[in-house]
Amino acid sequence: MPVKIAAESLSGCSGCEMSLLDIGAGLLGLLSKVEIVHMPVLVDHKYFGEDGGGDRIDIPRADIGLITGGIRNREQLRIAELMRERCRVVVAMGTCAGYGGIPALINLFENRDLFGRYYRTTEGTDAAPDPDRVVPALLDRTYALDEKIKVDAWIPGCPPHPGGIASALGLLIKGKIPALPVQSVCDSCPARREGKGAVQRVRRFLRNARYSADQPLSDMQCLLEQGFLCLGPVTLAGCSGSSGGPPRCIEARVPCRGCYGPVRRGGNQLLDMLNALASNGVEIRNLPDRFSVLRFSGAHSRLRPLARKKK
Ligand code: SF4
Ligand code: SF4
Ligand code: SF4
Repeated sequence: MPVKIAAESLSGCSGCEMSLLDIGAGLLGLLSKVEIVHMPVLVDHKYFGEDGGGDRIDIPRADIGLITGGIRNREQLRIAELMRERCRVVVAMGTCAGYGGIPALINLFENRDLFGRYYRTTEGTDAAPDPDRVVPALLDRTYALDEKIKVDAWIPGCPPHPGGIASALGLLIKGKIPALPVQSVCDSCPARREGKGAVQRVRRFLRNARYSADQPLSDMQCLLEQGFLCLGPVTLAGCSGSSGGPPRCIEARVPCRGCYGPVRRGGNQLLDMLNALASNGVEIRNLPDRFSVLRFSGAHSRLRPLARKKK
């Protein structure tokens, strides 16, 4: 009997689904073992029955439920709850589903500020009242899946590496739960570490790192030691898939932005990074925007509304 898969996309960008398709030819082998019973981005399955005449959202029962994106509104919350009810194993695929991801940056603002900006103070847009019909009501913030429903497995990454998705799906199809790595991005980085030097200021990404393009990566000094905000020490490894290659951004000679989320589930990338900066001799007081360290992991109340400025 084929393994039944249901998939849903909540508050995200569909990049995770692109990465799933990027598995390429290997996807054919996986598809031969599964039956996709619900996947709105791929299979035309209606929420309210095939003719749309039902009065409640319906998702078929499945062995595996893949969910991308976090939870931002009441409709997404209902769909996530229904996926939990109908699927034996629920998988948070992608960093939005696991840690809030980029959409959770909105957690720095209250909904009234968001609506005010979007509908009334955006340059070039006529002012309009807040929508109160058709659009599902927003929750107070963006939530990671496990803040609202029980999650059985995570496939992190923004987006996850196609090889990582393929190996996780291969295990899930066999009835196994894929484990997360225990290493950080630094653990798989070949950059040369020289140890703490003189205290220096954080350097902007706009400046090039010191490296020679015709020399191997192992000849490049660690980007953090060069003063860049490289989040390798506080970010989960895995972005090179199962190739065993270097982390993808480091291979391109740019710092890690933290897209695989915290090394430890429940870890706080901001606090851990402030420690890493200090221990690498980088001055943390001139960090231009410290909340950007949480740009991929702002759910779980890591990012909260900033205090309103007094007028
Ligand atoms: S994790 Fe990244 S690629 Fe996936 S939905 Fe979120 S923003 Fe898009
Ligand atoms: S801080 Fe960045 S450059 Fe340095 S070892 Fe870690 S991942 Fe590599
Ligand atoms: S190096 Fe960091 S930001 Fe780049 S893909 Fe890997 S985990 Fe993501």
